[in-house]
Amino acid sequence: MSSFEEFPVEISPAFEGQRVRKEDMYVEFGGPNVTKKFELVRVKSLEEVEDGLVRIIGPDMLELKEGSSNPLGILIDVAGLKIDKDLEGVIERRIHMYTNYIEGIMHLNQRYDIWCRISKKSFKKGLTSLKWWGLGLIRLFKAEMPYIEKMQVTFITDPVEVGKMFEEAIRIYSERDARARGLRDEEVELFYGCVLCQSFAPTHVCIISPERISLCGALTWFDARAAANIDPKGPNFPIPKGEPLDPVKGEWSGINEVVQKKSLGTIKRVYLHSAFEYPHTSCGCFECIMFYIPEVDGFGIVDRGFRGGAVNGLSFSTMASQTGGGMQSEGFLGIGIEYMRSRKFIQADGGWKRIAWISSTLRERVEDAIPQELKDKIPTENEAKNIEELKKYLIQHKHPLAGKIIEEKPEAPPTPQPIPQTPQPIPQPIPQTPVVIPQIASSQIPPSIPTAAGGIRIVLQGARIKIGKLIIKRAEGVKQ
Ligand code: SF4
Ligand code: ZN
Repeated sequence: MSSFEEFPVEISPAFEGQRVRKEDMYVEFGGPNVTKKFELVRVKSLEEVEDGLVRIIGPDMLELKEGSSNPLGILIDVAGLKIDKDLEGVIERRIHMYTNYIEGIMHLNQRYDIWCRISKKSFKKGLTSLKWWGLGLIRLFKAEMPYIEKMQVTFITDPVEVGKMFEEAIRIYSERDARARGLRDEEVELFYGCVLCQSFAPTHVCIISPERISLCGALTWFDARAAANIDPKGPNFPIPKGEPLDPVKGEWSGINEVVQKKSLGTIKRVYLHSAFEYPHTSCGCFECIMFYIPEVDGFGIVDRGFRGGAVNGLSFSTMASQTGGGMQSEGFLGIGIEYMRSRKFIQADGGWKRIAWISSTLRERVEDAIPQELKDKIPTENEAKNIEELKKYLIQHKHPLAGKIIEEKPEAPPTPQPIPQTPQPIPQPIPQTPVVIPQIASSQIPPSIPTAAGGIRIVLQGARIKIGKLIIKRAEGVKQ
């Protein structure tokens, strides 16, 4: 790695995984308090890029109030004879990695959702301008990706300018995602893996197939292929699919082998298209969380931008800690938004027919993906704020899950049945579903996958229980 002697702070992979806590931060950019933020890489011609240039449009750090949250656009233009547009997404995803190499700059998430903090300590050491961040990135990118011949970085902090460029960035992201939509998993021999997030989640391996975008939403199959081809020693690599062990669940022998190896034996099997048994692991960068709602035997989906409690009473961040970290958490799944457009979207669990609730912020973004016949059947927080309202809504609107809710009477609790998936029926009932709590009102049910609690009798029918970790907490607002 090149020398960074003239920099006010150290730059090294040793800082990867660093966190800057609120009390230690000088300023932050993006994150939950800011609506407009993005990072975008564009490939340009050699003539269009001024190598080494860092521009700041809007106030720089010295002009920002200590402790403030600010809008930010990071715009990076790259050029090189070997670079084509396919690499934009890949280079963009490395902003996360290389920014985290800089002492005292924390970078989380991706694309339109970035969250960056500058530490007080690094500010005091002289990191008082975004210029250093930009220069550090240019130096790192050019050292690690030598095919980048020229690179310029623009930081936009002016709210109006960020807003203007934000729309353009969103358009470019969706164009990239749309490219992969025509291709099917069966048509390719290789899937791709990504282990970029192992610095945060050491057992996490993303599997990227044509019909399953990465959970961070930043890498399509095309992006991952371009990255693996141009940088075979980098975090992206090809995975020969091997034998199809279960085409509906999306289990392949080649994936299992690679995941075992890359997770150092921790993860042994992965289903690409199910949230049960052996779900894909989640690091922490997922765009959305799918969470199981036992009371309706369906799923809710909440996006990172959603504020407040989801229909189960839990916030995104509470569920994120249960979902992430690189483990397999049955019933919780971190996903990329584009995966909701996939023909294989949780097909083993029933696909869209199993979705009982989505946050309104997410709904706006995936309206086109919701099957026509379900459009008026899936509520957001505007129609259903809690489980009781959800049940009523699903019944009133004849959601495919409604039949089961009506039948669930205390004297004869039914065995949950899988939701038929057309054209491919689900081969078996879901084994881990049947936790039925017929004796208590649903308002008393803890707002998560039920765990044992004092005074509640839990009847388990035909259940197979595996416990990796059990945390029992008193949920806020639960009546005792
Ligand atoms: Fe790679 Fe997955 Fe992390 Fe995205 S979330 S950077 S694809 S490991
Ligand atoms: Zn991640």
